[in-house]
Amino acid sequence: MVDLTRKFDVLVIGGGNAALCAAISARRAGASVLVLEGAPKFYRGGNTRHTRNMRCAHDAATDILTGPYTEQEFWEDLLRVTGGQTDEELARFMIRESKDILNWIVEQGVRWQPSLGGTLSLGRTNSFFLGGGRAMLNALYLTAEQLGVEIIYDAEVLDLEIDDGMFLSADLRRTDGRVNVTASTLVAAAGGFEANIDWLKQYWGEAADNFLIRGTPYNRGSILRMLLGKGVQEVGDPTQCHAVAIDARAPKFDGGIITRLDCVVFGVVVNTQAARFYDEGEDIWPKRYAIWGRLVAAQPDQIAYIIFDSTVLNSFMPSLFPPIAAGSIAELASKFDLDPAALEKTIGDFNAAVRPGTFDHTVLDDCRTEGLTPPKTHWARRIETPPYYAYPVRPGITFTYLGTRVNRQARMLMKDGNAAVNMFAAGEIMAGNVLGKGYAAGIGMTIGSVFGRIAGREAAQHARN
Ligand SMILES: Cc1cc2nc3c(=O)[nH]c(=O)nc-3n(C[C@H](O)[C@H](O)[C@H](O)COP(=O)(O)OP(=O)(O)OC[C@H]3O[C@@H](n4cnc5c(N)ncnc54)[C@H](O)[C@@H]3O)c2cc1C
Repeated sequence: MVDLTRKFDVLVIGGGNAALCAAISARRAGASVLVLEGAPKFYRGGNTRHTRNMRCAHDAATDILTGPYTEQEFWEDLLRVTGGQTDEELARFMIRESKDILNWIVEQGVRWQPSLGGTLSLGRTNSFFLGGGRAMLNALYLTAEQLGVEIIYDAEVLDLEIDDGMFLSADLRRTDGRVNVTASTLVAAAGGFEANIDWLKQYWGEAADNFLIRGTPYNRGSILRMLLGKGVQEVGDPTQCHAVAIDARAPKFDGGIITRLDCVVFGVVVNTQAARFYDEGEDIWPKRYAIWGRLVAAQPDQIAYIIFDSTVLNSFMPSLFPPIAAGSIAELASKFDLDPAALEKTIGDFNAAVRPGTFDHTVLDDCRTEGLTPPKTHWARRIETPPYYAYPVRPGITFTYLGTRVNRQARMLMKDGNAAVNMFAAGEIMAGNVLGKGYAAGIGMTIGSVFGRIAGREAAQHARN
């Protein structure tokens, strides 16, 4: 039983990667640490449970990474995916720090495995957690517990007492009522607001009702909202988020990685009018998968259909659910209430526009359409060998980018530009500092690990002083 009448050095709100990195780092720096995880123990760990890998800079190949990935290359990738919408100083700092994280995280009990093949070719840039995100989290929790970090589950923080940039106390929900806890410093690592449909609706309107949330239902943004309401400076565009196309049959929350669909490049994508709406072959899939959630969100009823034929059925990682099959394009259309004639025309026009080429999905190949709008600029092959298949897809929201502005100490900045006295943030809740838009696979965990580690260390030092 944790004694909640005592004052802790560091209070960490959240129970995912950022929170655990912060808690371990603060404890290793000599602080007493309390972690408040809003979810029950079984569901601890927020979106981190669903992760598989992390992107870190490194100057040479390692046991599990096939070659070097320099700071400069990481920076150029980030610059490209964000279109320059990033805090350059903070982002470059994070990238530099990420080099050290590869070893630091192993020292906290996490194990790596060689990367998996498939449509996301990340073997050189991203390290994969042995056993996935859940195993990674279990290792961090075990280390935290062994170090003496106090952890309470089912402990949703309902209110924060903050006076002029200084954290004083937090109110948390317990089964037996509301309890007030005090601490010298705060680390907010409570995720974004992706699971708060009403908040999403403020920017997306009723369409948000059709969004599926890929991760935890517990990231409702309540801590973010409290902090912004109490003078912390916000960063990021509230409409920006990581969103991918996922199987429309996925559950509303927590469907995780197994509902994602990576077969767009192998076929065409149509909306409810059976019309194509975007170049399915615009760029290599790891650089494009994260735009398809937003593209589908912009379609009528927020649903679309990936259509392909039997020649590519075994070319990609399938969803948890099997694709819908049919002997003809018209029959396939009827299974989704699409106009059969319209779909036949779309596929017919596409097939007629395909130019011969040498197919290779790992490079920008020369298989393309000619005279078609929108074009398919790479990997275009005729869809003509039955049976035909379709996956219905919806926008799957991974996490939001609106957050709290921080400096290199992971210390929150207040609206007046001053640094908060004793408040730090890490992970999704401050991801918007680095991600103005766009995404490169594995950066979510980099942001959480780098800034979590720093936030914990800085919070501990502040508490000591
Ligand atoms: C399906 C899926 C796959 C992903 N795969 C990857 C990947 O392979 N690599 C990668 O880099 N990123 C991936 N991501 C993104 C990644 O999950 C996040 O960037 C990262 O986990 C964020 O860590 P975090 O600690 O900030 O948040 P989380 O891990 O989400 O933790 C937030 C925590 O805050 C708690 N909380 C929220 N509100 C309160 C409150 N009021 N009181 C107390 N606790 C509260 C929640 O219960 C939760 O434990 C994936 C996400 C999803 C959904």
